[in-house]
Amino acid sequence: RPRVLSGIQPTADSFHLGNYLGALRNWVPLQDTHDAFYCVVDLHAITIPQDPAVLRRRTRVSAAQLLAIGLDPERSTLFVQSHVPEHAQLAWVMNCLTGFGEAGRMTQFKDKSGKQGADSTSVGLFTYPILQAADILLYQADAVPVGEDQRQHLELTRDLAQRFNHRYGQTFTVPAPHIIKDTAKITDLQEPTAKMSKSASSPNGIIELLETPSRSGKKIKSAVTDTGRDIVFDPENKPGIANLLTIYSALTGRTIEDLTGAYDGKGYGDLKKDLAAVVVDFVTPIQERTKTYLDDPAQLDKVLAAGAEKAREVSAATLATVYDRIGFLAGK
Ligand code: ATP
Ligand code: MG
Repeated sequence: RPRVLSGIQPTADSFHLGNYLGALRNWVPLQDTHDAFYCVVDLHAITIPQDPAVLRRRTRVSAAQLLAIGLDPERSTLFVQSHVPEHAQLAWVMNCLTGFGEAGRMTQFKDKSGKQGADSTSVGLFTYPILQAADILLYQADAVPVGEDQRQHLELTRDLAQRFNHRYGQTFTVPAPHIIKDTAKITDLQEPTAKMSKSASSPNGIIELLETPSRSGKKIKSAVTDTGRDIVFDPENKPGIANLLTIYSALTGRTIEDLTGAYDGKGYGDLKKDLAAVVVDFVTPIQERTKTYLDDPAQLDKVLAAGAEKAREVSAATLATVYDRIGFLAGK
């Protein structure tokens, strides 16, 4: 079976609809067609300062949400990145293979560091895409289900895999991005040209899987739209309405044409009211299941420990080959 790997950062108390529609919903069916590895990437989360107690809580909440949306530890390997030391170990090797200028061209780093200024930006944030390359290459992943914002990082991963293979002999599978076109970039409700983001969006810009119906309803009602009134799908000129239609379509399975037809002659208020109800119907069972998993943290930790053990069987073998290829003396 082909392999897939993907990860999500525990950088908030809830995932948002961008995470779900852009990436996570893809993770579920891939369990049946692929040998799937999914991780909560806490090493990535600390590229930005995190309070220890909050990080611990968010790591469990993240794992619980992944189970709640349908990941099944019997059919896929679910683990926490820091439980598998090979990620950090391979990242060092990859750091030494990456050019400084090459890393400096990553646009996500420029965006994230630009907001903080150089003195409060960590070197970890700079090398984040290289750690991500290590995450993927350790498992010899064929495909990586992610949102559009990860395309450039995937390109770097492919370059590093090819570079290593060329220099040291065939070692890594060169992975391909697996991006769902229609929902690859869900945008911020308040800033409909920017990506919806756990750490960069304002609270009103994101719809969280775990927030109350009244909260998500209010946010959808106050979503930024244009001054027109026609409900048409025009991402260029009407990005706010296009985003709402994209979310509506993805959550219901109705096509955009069907929706624009059904709302012909109606106003933005009607669309927003109905979308709010669609969102509530979608998140309610996820919220219930998340709560059930969180009610038994010992069991949750057991699931994650078993996942890490399975992950290490693969990652340790890859790292051993890499260490040998680059000329490290065998330690035993
Ligand atoms: P952060 O702001 O902390 O970086 P994030 O919201 O970008 O958080 P990540 O944990 O970095 O979330 O990414 C998890 C997955 O969700 C990735 O595959 C990413 O491409 C995808 N993703 C994130 N935001 C969106 C979005 N707005 N639309 C589609 N996919 C998204
Ligand atoms: Mg991100």
